Amino acid sequence: MGCQMNVYDSEQMLRLLAPLNYRPTSRPDKADLIVLNTCSIREKAEHKVYSLLGRLVRMKQQRPDLIIGVGGCVAQQEGYRLFERAPHVDIVFGTFALGRLHSLVQKVEDQKKQIVDINPRRESEPLYVKEPIFTTGNATAFVTIMQGCDNFCSYCVVPYVRGREVSRNPKGILEEIEGLVENDISEVTLIGQNVNAYGQKNGHGCDFPALLEYVGDVKGLRRIRFTTSHPKDLSDRLIETFCRVDKLAPHIHLPVQSGSDRMLRRMNRGYTRDFYLKKVAKLRNVRPDIAISTDIIVGFPGEERVDFEATLDLVRKVGFDSLFLFKYSDRPNVPAAKFSNKVPEAVKVERFSTLLEIQEKFTLKKNKALVRTTQDVLVEGPGKRLPNQLTGRTPCNRIVNFPDGMARVGRIVPVRIVEAFSHSLLGQPVGRDHEEYSGEDGGISHAA
Ligand code: SF4
Repeated sequence: MGCQMNVYDSEQMLRLLAPLNYRPTSRPDKADLIVLNTCSIREKAEHKVYSLLGRLVRMKQQRPDLIIGVGGCVAQQEGYRLFERAPHVDIVFGTFALGRLHSLVQKVEDQKKQIVDINPRRESEPLYVKEPIFTTGNATAFVTIMQGCDNFCSYCVVPYVRGREVSRNPKGILEEIEGLVENDISEVTLIGQNVNAYGQKNGHGCDFPALLEYVGDVKGLRRIRFTTSHPKDLSDRLIETFCRVDKLAPHIHLPVQSGSDRMLRRMNRGYTRDFYLKKVAKLRNVRPDIAISTDIIVGFPGEERVDFEATLDLVRKVGFDSLFLFKYSDRPNVPAAKFSNKVPEAVKVERFSTLLEIQEKFTLKKNKALVRTTQDVLVEGPGKRLPNQLTGRTPCNRIVNFPDGMARVGRIVPVRIVEAFSHSLLGQPVGRDHEEYSGEDGGISHAA
């Protein structure tokens, strides 16, 4: 559940458990071990954990030997309390205990008793387990480059459940990416809670722009993305990297959260709306085709109509390519939970819909502007709607569906855009004699 960090961490869990003879299955009813890797960033995500756990009660009654583990941010936050609501759980392991999962499972197998590990002691770097590799057939992969956050935005649980910023050694990151390329990965997304702060604390002698240059030199890798960026750490050098590193896709996710300076102060974001707008102008100056997406929270405590209007104004001024919208909800132990002037739910709902409507028009307009252009689409797999259809992404991160029985997963193919929708584009491949169709190397055969 949750963010890309959890996707990555779940893969590390699979590798950690492989020596104990656990293998992934698509049949939970046949599983010997079920691990929920949880997210607590929003109230809704946390509810999902308990609702899923509720559905596992009967399974545990029918098969008492089934081991149920709950890991990740909810586990770190709840600890022993989790057993009160879900007594059928065997292991509660927090974000710091990820690397100890295999020994916790072994202990439950041997001792048949419940275990909690939320000890905030962790390895010096985010966990990466090299072997064994499970090939996914995907063309893209996430690579964690750092973990944790030092920013303490007033609404966010991350610094409490994931700890302070820790960056991985660049050598290990590059080795991991080279290994992924050997396993047919064409695109990597470098992930972390605030990738812009990569290397600032650890003394690896390599900051984020430098890391991007090294990754850009990895042979066989076709595309690089990164997320998430904090606006206050978006340096001019990093902005210029969009020109210097050819493989870096022209897309940035730059959460603004609010267009009101008063709200930004209350959120402890460390920048003003003017600062943010200047960063956007610099990005577009360096890379005019760059796509910019953002996160916005509506209904933050104390948000008045005038603050919301400032957010609407910022959204109109920037013209985001896409926007992830959230209604504020209190999270345990964060400063904003104690703020007065909570915004009523009905007001949050109304602001959410207003903003969504405005953004949908922008997104559609931006998508329509791509009709009749040719885009380099990295093929990700079969399309979901029609047979013989493939799906992939443009450099600026738009989904394109197109008919083709010959293109291969992981290849970049030129596609002419013929129609635009709110959330995707429809295209026609062009130039079948394009070198990307030669099929002489790389790629995974796609049986269309
Ligand atoms: S920058 Fe703020 S919102 Fe993002 S992870 Fe850190 S504390 Fe949370």
